Amino acid sequence: MSEHGGVPGAGLVKGLAVTLKTMTRRSTTQQYPDVAPELPPRSRGVIALLEENCTVCMLCARECPDWCIYIDSHKEEVAVPGAARPRQRNVLDKFDIDFSLCMYCGICIEVCPFDALYWSPEFEYAEYDIKDLLHDKDHLGEWMATVPPPPAHDPLGDPSKEETTAARKAAGPPARPAPTRVRPEADEPGGGAAS
Ligand code: SF4
Ligand code: SF4
Repeated sequence: MSEHGGVPGAGLVKGLAVTLKTMTRRSTTQQYPDVAPELPPRSRGVIALLEENCTVCMLCARECPDWCIYIDSHKEEVAVPGAARPRQRNVLDKFDIDFSLCMYCGICIEVCPFDALYWSPEFEYAEYDIKDLLHDKDHLGEWMATVPPPPAHDPLGDPSKEETTAARKAAGPPARPAPTRVRPEADEPGGGAAS
């Protein structure tokens, strides 16, 4: 017996058993950068911009908790055939995101009503100078090519809002409940209120 009451050498055997078990286990080390990592499709690497969808509504810039989205635009008149007056539309001049401030919360992507912002799993944009982490709309647009396609439709999932609305419209207006007739107390057997 050892001075602690155990079998002598038991700790050594236990330690060697752990070493042997670890030696025979398959290594999970990823050899980055020689081998690209397999990232989950919803990884938050960088924010990509689909410029055609952006209406310069400014919602993303207003909701960003870090104030790291900078947008500039001008108005342009568009002649519409048959219309009395030309229409005005916003033209995006500048859309920058400062990734040195961004905390990757995703609020800008969530609030964009026109699906102009997307997560891309691209993460290899480290810079030596922090100033170079400010990326303009051209660079944000290039990252659109790395955005994964949306997940396949889940046949067991809830129907989309559009499907529910279409089904409701097809079904027509809901039937009105029949009015319930309240019989006057005088009609009750016995001729009135109970004493
Ligand atoms: S992810 Fe969050 S912090 Fe980054 S730009 Fe969007 S809203 Fe701002
Ligand atoms: S919320 Fe969307 S549409 Fe509005 S400015 Fe931002 S990216 Fe453009």
